[in-house]
Amino acid sequence: MGSFSRRAFLEAGTAAALVRSSGAAALSAPTLQNEPSGQSNGTWQPFPLDSVRLGSGVFREQADINARYLDSFSVDRLVHSFRLTAGMSSGATPYGGWEEPACELRGHFNGGHFLSAVALASVTSANSELKRRGDEVVAALAQCQKKMGSGYLSAFPPELFERLVKGQQVWAPFYTYHKIMAGLLDMHSLTGNADALPVAEGMARWVGNYFSGISAEQRQRMLRTEYGGMNEVLVNLAALTQKERYLDTARLFEQPGFLDPLAERRDELRGLHANTHVPKVIGAARMYEVTGERRYRTIAEYFLEEVLTARNYAIGNTSLDEHWRSSPGQLQGTLGWSNAECCVAYNLMKLQRLVFGWTGHPRWMDEYERTLFNCRLGTQDPHGLKQYFFPLAAGYWRAYNSPEESFWCCTGTGAEEFAKFTDTIFFHRGSDVYVNQFIAATLQWKEEGLTLQQVTGFPMEQGTTIKITSSRPVSRTIHVRIPEWVAGAAEIRVNGRLLESVADPGSYVGVRRVWRQGDTLTLHLPMRLRQESLQGDDSVAAVLYGPMVLATDLGPGPVDGPERVVHGRPTEPEGLPPPAALPQVPAEISMREAAWVNIESPSELRFAAASREGTRKLMPMYRIRDERYSVYWQREPSKGHG
Ligand SMILES: [Zn+2]
Repeated sequence: MGSFSRRAFLEAGTAAALVRSSGAAALSAPTLQNEPSGQSNGTWQPFPLDSVRLGSGVFREQADINARYLDSFSVDRLVHSFRLTAGMSSGATPYGGWEEPACELRGHFNGGHFLSAVALASVTSANSELKRRGDEVVAALAQCQKKMGSGYLSAFPPELFERLVKGQQVWAPFYTYHKIMAGLLDMHSLTGNADALPVAEGMARWVGNYFSGISAEQRQRMLRTEYGGMNEVLVNLAALTQKERYLDTARLFEQPGFLDPLAERRDELRGLHANTHVPKVIGAARMYEVTGERRYRTIAEYFLEEVLTARNYAIGNTSLDEHWRSSPGQLQGTLGWSNAECCVAYNLMKLQRLVFGWTGHPRWMDEYERTLFNCRLGTQDPHGLKQYFFPLAAGYWRAYNSPEESFWCCTGTGAEEFAKFTDTIFFHRGSDVYVNQFIAATLQWKEEGLTLQQVTGFPMEQGTTIKITSSRPVSRTIHVRIPEWVAGAAEIRVNGRLLESVADPGSYVGVRRVWRQGDTLTLHLPMRLRQESLQGDDSVAAVLYGPMVLATDLGPGPVDGPERVVHGRPTEPEGLPPPAALPQVPAEISMREAAWVNIESPSELRFAAASREGTRKLMPMYRIRDERYSVYWQREPSKGHG
């Protein structure tokens, strides 16, 4: 991607990491309605990040790989362009790609995502070295801000913002500004860094001043340029500091042209850049949480439902060439290399998590699981490098950023994602515990003297066990998610005894009792094979087993070289071949089952299919590493595919 191409200006964005647990209820709390009957009042809340630790398994392996990647960065190199912008000296070797000194996005990773990621990783894994590194970057940024004197802080000069005022071509200055503010807030909220908050407040004041004297019409024109989660981070800042003026500044980033149709439940997303717009809805969701204004909630819930049902692929992500290219429910002909930018998955999950907190509806956690297992897990290589696009046409493979010469947006959101797997596994509502995700992890609820250890090999194991450690008997309801995908009846056992409860797929089942030291709650979640059609084209379908999309192995792909690791600013390999034909479903088959696929080993997740081209191996998409693959199959009759 060239920095002055049209694509460059439409390039992707992300939003901040989570400060919700500290910020959500700080201003006037919303009065929530339409909650499921029989529940006590209040929202579904995450636990503090430091109260959950991953157990052994694929998630901890992936988190450790990410932490090692974060550990590879030098503070002096990270802050090089910030120092030069502030008129200070720096002899450090700058990083490349989107962080090189001539790139208009420089600073987005170095002073933004990096801070969010090390804040998250230092808390989720008690890594004091990463915390120290984050503290050093914050101290350096504070020095740069002080030197510049106006509250402004960036790795590029304010001249880029002047170009925005003048309507001249510029990449996305507020997008980058948002990442830096979010990184500072994460260092403050998650790690307690005392210097980060005043720096973020200085940045916010500069934004308020910047817009003074600019007409509403001119401001709306300026907002056509991607601005990331500026509204979200300003709402978060308002909630943290109890200062209303930051809410006023947040509202300056609202676009009626985008939000009004959503508030009226109309899908006018066609033609829009996906990752420019999801963060705006996250901002609306946070605005609802802080102000209680229902309109914002409608916007968030409608948008999320619409994208998930009418614009998502089976892997739990959306878009082609970073855009919504078609009418709702019409994804035929949209399978290519450049599907499903990874940042969009990160942002959709943030939104799902927020919206879940309003109703506790299992639907949002089903979708969260789908995206997590199919579109996040598997997008990092063994060196911590991340994917940008997620190819969905047949015959393509995974490609990654280079270690020091890329710094894509997806490098940044990926570095955050792989540091916060613990943030959604457990929630609570009052004193009730919710088990949302089946991931080996331990929750230590210190205030309640209660420890829940989730022991599971999921998804190799079709279920999970919760072990209770409590200093005294505790009367408590533990709610467990019964996923929509479950085959037949889920079984729940307490200390080995089967409960005669009705556990419908797509629900939470609450188990209330006096829990004692050593009690166990065991959940059996049988999986089955099923098909899901591509939206708008019943002749194309993906096969799923439980929450996992099964990819067909189409033979070895490139294991290194430029097809595998992309250097410099581009986000995809050059000279990509055309896609292969989709594998063909053998013959007449039912529309729902996937009878041509055999389960060879459920515990090893091995599958095979008798396709027209011979026997094909299938495996969960997240386990595809070096193979060319296909997520979709061609069924009869063919309507053609892209
Ligand atoms: Zn991205």
